Order: sequence, then C-alpha cells, then structure tokens
Amino acid sequence: MLASLLVGGETIALRGDLGAGKTCFARGLASGLGCDERQVSSPTFIVLQRYRGARIDLVHVDAYRLSNPEQLRDSGLELGAHDCVAAIEWSERVESELPADTITVSLVATSATDRAITISAPANFIERVSWSMRARPCAICKAPVAFLGETKPFCSKRCRDVDLGRWIDGRYQISRPIEQTDLDED
Ligand SMILES: [Zn+2]
Repeated sequence: MLASLLVGGETIALRGDLGAGKTCFARGLASGLGCDERQVSSPTFIVLQRYRGARIDLVHVDAYRLSNPEQLRDSGLELGAHDCVAAIEWSERVESELPADTITVSLVATSATDRAITISAPANFIERVSWSMRARPCAICKAPVAFLGETKPFCSKRCRDVDLGRWIDGRYQISRPIEQTDLDED
C-alpha cells in the first residue's frame, strides 16, 4: 500500500529493534514497487543495495555499520533523487542526514507474530494518502467502497457478480433497474 503511494524521491526511515521486521517491511516495499523481493536480503550487505522497480527503484540502506552520519553521503547515495525511494534501516544512526520530509515507519513487536506499525509523514504526503484511501462509489450500485474493500471496485460480491454477468451476457448496459436482490449480500 505504501509503495503504491510513492512517486520517487521519498526517504523512508525504518525504525525498530532487532527482529521487529524492518527487512520484512523493506521486502514488502520492494514487492509493492515491482522489484524482485526475493533479492532483498536481511542486513548483512554493505551499506546499500539498489533494486530495479517497475516505476521507481528501491535503494535499501543499512546504516547499522556506519560509524558516523557523513558516511551515508560518502556511500554515494543521493537522498531525494527522483528515480528511486530510499528505505533506511537503523536510520537513527544517520538522523542528521535525513531530509525534513522523511517518512518514518516504526515497527514494534507486540507478540511473537504481531507488529504495531506507525507511519509518520509530512502533511502533503498525508493528503496524498487520504486522497488515495478515500471511499469510492461502487461501480454498480454507487454505495461507498472502502480503500481496503476485498471486492473493490464493487461494494459486495453480489455487485461484482452483477458486473461479471453483464460481461458474460455480452450486454454491458443496464437493461433493467437494479433490484434489491441484486444488491443483497449472500
Ligand atoms: Zn454495489
């Protein structure tokens, strides 16, 4: 989801203790950007790795081994470059190098299998998020459909089936008014 909202040039600071899931999150980000997520390794590599994405690349940075923030600049990474998104693990170590509009993703283990994820971002990014996540009218009955709706862009399985039925019938037009039985959930 986060990846779909990125346009390039963003810096993402990944925060969390060892084992909190920073690399796992980076892998999801890679997948969302169309990179080969299997290539995203846990932080054993040297400072940074670049993965080719469908629209924009992901630069995965591990600041753990940097002894001072200036080393990030020395690594050749240009934060804010518009052809990529930088995701930085152990970003606390390079705090002074992070742009003011850095998006911070904090991961906290709440149990062995659960994580609480908090994302802090500048106001213009939050606006973009709320615009993208706003409910949209169902393509069939115009009822609002949530951003995470399982049957998106339809409000229900029923509306999705109504749509499918129209394609199968070869008549993609409303031939009769939609009746309540078309709209009821199973
Ligand atoms: Zn509907």
